[in-house]
Amino acid sequence: MKNSIREALLQERELYSPTNEEIENIKKRFFSLPKVKASKYVLLYFPHKKEVNTLPIIDELLKQKKVILLPKVKDKDILPIQVKNLSTLKSGYAGIKEPEGNPVSPEIIDVIVIPGIAFDKRGYRLGYGKGFYDRFLKKTKGLKVGLAYDFQVLDKLPKEEHDVPVDILITPTKTIYIKEEKND
Ligand code: ADP
Ligand code: MG
Repeated sequence: MKNSIREALLQERELYSPTNEEIENIKKRFFSLPKVKASKYVLLYFPHKKEVNTLPIIDELLKQKKVILLPKVKDKDILPIQVKNLSTLKSGYAGIKEPEGNPVSPEIIDVIVIPGIAFDKRGYRLGYGKGFYDRFLKKTKGLKVGLAYDFQVLDKLPKEEHDVPVDILITPTKTIYIKEEKND
């Protein structure tokens, strides 16, 4: 079930060309979150394929002198490593650009920005199917923010015990605050 949705939505994402306005609106919504304003340590992702482009957000965070972290995949884990200059990144897991250096503790991270193939209105997320973020998100109390285009937000995704939902889902047109009740 997860696999067929994953394939369909991944294909849709590959074919999608967002406008500059859509990316700009996601960025504006992100920076209007109070917890982002108050943050110091922010873990983002370096955009891969047609994931929502985080580079404008990263540039702004660097200007604001926040500590920017990007994931490095080691074995089956995400290690959050500080990045001061995007030109120092090297191709790593699945060809995704990664930083080098010593990881910080997941516990100090204030905000985590998460890509997805699809999300649902309860905050559940479909990734590439390796569970990297599910494992990582259990280790942090930071605000979990998913970025998606509107077509990537479905009513209900299949969910398993290990799946960790996001707290906030941002699309170009909506900021969805996920409620506490996630039992259905
Ligand atoms: P994704 O979240 O990337 O879409 P899935 O939720 O389908 O992927 O998870 C992929 C695999 O990762 C599953 O087989 C699951 O057993 C494993 N997994 C996820 N989270 C954990 C965890 N906390 N501990 C052990 N295995 C996990
Ligand atoms: Mg999952």
